[in-house]
Amino acid sequence: MDVWKDYQEKNKDRFLNELLELLRIPSVSAKSEHKPDMARCAEAVKQRLLDAGADKVEIYPTDGHPIVYGEKIIDAAKPTVLVYGHYDVQPAEPLELWNSGPFDPVIKDGKIFARGSCDDKGQVYMHVKALETMVQTNTLTNNIKFCIEGEEEVGSPNLGKFVSAHKDLLKADCVLISDSAMISLETPSLDVGLRGLSYIEVEVTGPNRDLHSGVYGGAVANPITILAKMIASLHDKDNHIKIPGFYDDVIEATDEERKLMAKAPFSKSEYKKDLGVKKLWGEKGYSTNERTGIRPTLELNGIWGGYTGEGAKTVLPSKAFAKISARLVPDQSSEKISKLLIDHLHKIAPDYVTVKATLHHGGEPYVTPMNSKAYKAAAKAIEATFKKAPIPVRGGGSIPICSLFEKELGTKVVLMGFGLDSDNLHSPNEKFDIANFYKGIETIPYFHKFFAEMK
Ligand SMILES: [Zn+2]
Repeated sequence: MDVWKDYQEKNKDRFLNELLELLRIPSVSAKSEHKPDMARCAEAVKQRLLDAGADKVEIYPTDGHPIVYGEKIIDAAKPTVLVYGHYDVQPAEPLELWNSGPFDPVIKDGKIFARGSCDDKGQVYMHVKALETMVQTNTLTNNIKFCIEGEEEVGSPNLGKFVSAHKDLLKADCVLISDSAMISLETPSLDVGLRGLSYIEVEVTGPNRDLHSGVYGGAVANPITILAKMIASLHDKDNHIKIPGFYDDVIEATDEERKLMAKAPFSKSEYKKDLGVKKLWGEKGYSTNERTGIRPTLELNGIWGGYTGEGAKTVLPSKAFAKISARLVPDQSSEKISKLLIDHLHKIAPDYVTVKATLHHGGEPYVTPMNSKAYKAAAKAIEATFKKAPIPVRGGGSIPICSLFEKELGTKVVLMGFGLDSDNLHSPNEKFDIANFYKGIETIPYFHKFFAEMK
């Protein structure tokens, strides 16, 4: 809408300068020395929300860093969108690899270089300025709530407690999150799913002590050989996972979804070249992007045992170990798959050894259905400002807060990220393209408008 564009055009330098101010606060949640900065940053977020037109903003203390809650309620009968984001950032180290100070934002080639520029202060601030734009142009169509936490980068240890204790306060018709990336400004995309995780460790014990491989070798099973055989049996020749029941709850992506995903630009030869591999590996029947997005996987993350020091030592070891994880897709449950993995390893262990498999941690997979109102509103919003329909993308990683919100609030989460994979998140020289920042502010009001219309 022209009023939004005009408003942004008139105020865009101020929008940018305000973001730079916010980036100057070193809100590193992991380090206790930054506790005062965390409090200062929460205060700053509160003030910015009030300035943007929120009617009520409160800072909620937690056992860790505070959560900022804000709202603009225009009519209780109208739909409500809850915006989630975080004001904390990753530690900036190693500092010597930064070309400029991590908390001294610099603009170069149209990009803002600073810790938190993209993850997630820059993206949170798009929502604050979108609110201002709608309030100032009198075009707000629905209620908006904000839940901006300060502990995302340390695993959100207090968010779950806060959400379940404040279900009424946070009640909404959808949760909107901009803490992810799109393919590019030319090829916009929306994340429609994230994988979950099951992580276990296995210990295989043979003889009660390390043995001389000359005296005992050939007469006693070697736990490393046994472990290697057990692990090798977990995939079949087509690289399907051979654990009974593993695929039982997997929801197959629809043909339509697979067709749309295939539109994402992808070069097999560049992918191979980048990784230095001659041939790609994976489950038969699926493309590379599908293997990392819509399919569950099982990976060895580490394997050790016996002698690994310098030179040779002829030992028949007593023990062998491995760390094994599975990436999960909807509707697999982390708890169920972890148990399946652990039970399976115990079951296939031959009598030559004893096997102890234990759970490390897990997280649930998440999917935003393409036929949900929230997804449709986001896709329509992208189309309105990019003049192109977004490509649905399934991310290989995990954002556990998505399933937390769905479980506690019973609402779907939609991930509308405006960052790029090349933004160096969590790395030195994190950046956010100013064009992406402005595009976000331009697109978000459309999301609210279309979401309100769909109710
Ligand atoms: Zn983030």
